Amino acid sequence: MTNSILKMRLLIQLFVLLFSSVNNGHRLGSSMKPIHYDLLLLPIISGGSPRLCGHVLVDLEPTMTTNVVTFHGVEISILDVSIEQVLDTEKKINSDRSVQLEDLCFSGLFEIVNEAHTVIHEDVERQQISVILKQTLIKGHRYRVGLFYVAKVRDDNRGFFRANYKNDNTSCCHEGWFGGTQMEATNARRVLPCLDEPGFKTTFDVTIGHNRVMSALSNMPEIATRPMKNTREWMWTIFSRSPPMPTYLLAMFVTDYDKVERIYKVCKRTIRMRFWGRRDQLRHLEQSMAVVPDMLNYMETYVRQPFSLPKIDFISAPLELDFEAMENWGLVLFRENRLNFNEETGSEDERFQVVQTMAHELAHQFFGNLVTSDWWSDIWFNEGFCGVFENDLVQHALPNLVFRAEMSKFSSIRTAMKIEEHVHAASVIRAVETADDAEKMFDSITYSKGSGLLLMLRNSVGPQNFRNAVVTYMERYQFQNANSQRFMDILDEEIHKNRDIGRGMNVTKIMHSWTSQQSYPIVRCIRTGNGRVRLSQTPHPVRNNITSDETTNQLWWIPISMTDGNQPDFTQQGTYPRVWLTPERPSLEIPYFPTDSGHDSTNDEDDNWILINGEFSGYVRVLYDDYNWRLISRQLVVNHTVIPQVTRAQLIDDAFTLALGEYLEYKVVLELIEYLTSVSDEFVRATTQFHLKWMRERAKQNESLLTLFEEYTGRLKFERMDDEHPNEYNNLVRTDGFEGEGCSSWSDGVCVDQILGMFRAEMDGTITAANKKYDFTKLC
Ligand SMILES: [Zn+2]
Repeated sequence: MTNSILKMRLLIQLFVLLFSSVNNGHRLGSSMKPIHYDLLLLPIISGGSPRLCGHVLVDLEPTMTTNVVTFHGVEISILDVSIEQVLDTEKKINSDRSVQLEDLCFSGLFEIVNEAHTVIHEDVERQQISVILKQTLIKGHRYRVGLFYVAKVRDDNRGFFRANYKNDNTSCCHEGWFGGTQMEATNARRVLPCLDEPGFKTTFDVTIGHNRVMSALSNMPEIATRPMKNTREWMWTIFSRSPPMPTYLLAMFVTDYDKVERIYKVCKRTIRMRFWGRRDQLRHLEQSMAVVPDMLNYMETYVRQPFSLPKIDFISAPLELDFEAMENWGLVLFRENRLNFNEETGSEDERFQVVQTMAHELAHQFFGNLVTSDWWSDIWFNEGFCGVFENDLVQHALPNLVFRAEMSKFSSIRTAMKIEEHVHAASVIRAVETADDAEKMFDSITYSKGSGLLLMLRNSVGPQNFRNAVVTYMERYQFQNANSQRFMDILDEEIHKNRDIGRGMNVTKIMHSWTSQQSYPIVRCIRTGNGRVRLSQTPHPVRNNITSDETTNQLWWIPISMTDGNQPDFTQQGTYPRVWLTPERPSLEIPYFPTDSGHDSTNDEDDNWILINGEFSGYVRVLYDDYNWRLISRQLVVNHTVIPQVTRAQLIDDAFTLALGEYLEYKVVLELIEYLTSVSDEFVRATTQFHLKWMRERAKQNESLLTLFEEYTGRLKFERMDDEHPNEYNNLVRTDGFEGEGCSSWSDGVCVDQILGMFRAEMDGTITAANKKYDFTKLC
């Protein structure tokens, strides 16, 4: 065999390998299993030429023999590649690499020593970097690939970012730099070459280089420091090894913030908690610090798993983040106004937002961090769970915020429904292929519909079965990946232990009808006489439906809870499903009262209202016959508190929405809100005002509707929403459904038009960044 033939063979082999490595779509596939990262990162964040220098050792196990390793990477230049087979996993890593990195970052000097590769191919579109090695990697063996690289310190919050800040905005005397990371969803690839998919969970060793006057933080506690060889002002901080986690949870910060430290004791375990902030902001950390132990304790008790790390840091960024907070394991990042609360000037709404954000991020320490979704298409499950626990935790830690927690839950579900009414929204579970697809998953459907569906599920199977399934799920998949399907399987096992509940119930099937279809059903509830009601389902049509009847054949598994005016019951018992509408049986007729209730249906029927879906127990709207609407209206006038506030708001929201869709006459809706002319019902005020704005707009083209509108609003007893206490309750009600400046009253025509315009733009996606007031992707 001649040398030239060998070369040709090599070229053909390279071409084939290269071709196969860049033509496998945007996902990396399963040819390489990452096991561990050892990352050395040196960020230069101050001054005019910020830069990020790194060396990463990636331990990999090929599942097929190959000489190509493909990483994710964006705006990363790889300078040198090393490769060695790992025979001894405990072997000490040569520390010379830190000196080489210091030379590279401080002096721009770099000597290529290893050059274990022949080609480095970057596929910009797929955000992948393929390294063609000189050496073949044998299936099943373990290798350590070393990469020296340079990346960017950014000014936005994707990857490694920096911000310049002053300790006090009014002070001249201290100015500092803040550097840190935001990896979720697909930005770890801007900080290091890595296999940047949530299904790849690995351990991480992190070492950060930084100026001595600054602190370095990462997910795990710092275990050692050592001075740099090149400069006395700089040092390396070394962190202990993390448990297995996905790349999107990796976090690193460099800051000269101050901190407040607390030790949280639970049983014989201690967790160190540190709250970091600008010096003049430290006194505003009290509220956050006060709720963390209670909330963490609640979560640990509920899921029966301890918080896995020995410490947790909470830090805010001195810049306007695109999100409110990020749940990095052991190192949670917040916007300043979501971690800090000023007791002297802050409103109760602001206090609630701080507490709610903390609750969401602590829930993530278990849902997402301890057990991780295996792919972005299923991220609703993590976010939905955190949405559910957000409210549970707030109510546990600060019971006096229950009103706001309920309002927030109601508003959240309503927001998702409104979106689904206006545009063809995506389904909850959807295909994700590219980085862009993954980023787009963080929308209201994921967050608000996701938590709404899980609340419906919890209500349908009962809280105890639901919790038991969570405990098993956590136990079975801790430190691993899982998905909603695994949870549904466990829940199916759980409910079938109980014959009464489990009989004929298939959670997987039920939830599939909700997570794979867009929109939601309207449940019609019509009295048919003889003590019976007829129930049926129909999809809510999309208002801007361009693709005609795409949704008209949709059917769902719908839990139907029912109560009545004779024995109103909005407890867990009363909102438990009495029957189900199913795709196979989309309509059915049932007795007005359960047969064991002791009612004489025929006699009780005439003057008793019936009510379906109390306390938002299902993600549906309900359309009654006019007579039943009138019975409910009469109840509200006589004593509105018989029906709880969430259900009152929901009834009004349903009625207005159905009137807008011409399922119901506005006359009936105005009868429903007649009680508001004599009672100030704070909880439903925002919902009602929101819809009156829409009604007023519709009335412009309809004289009789206008007369009806004016006659009603002339008697309406809403207090004018003035700005006397702009941060108090008024602000809360203004955020209902969409967040705008709010109008001082529904009769302020110019303001109303602006708000409606903004809402429409939000719905059809034409809203601009400048006038965008509501960010649907608020929490990570
Ligand atoms: Zn989240």
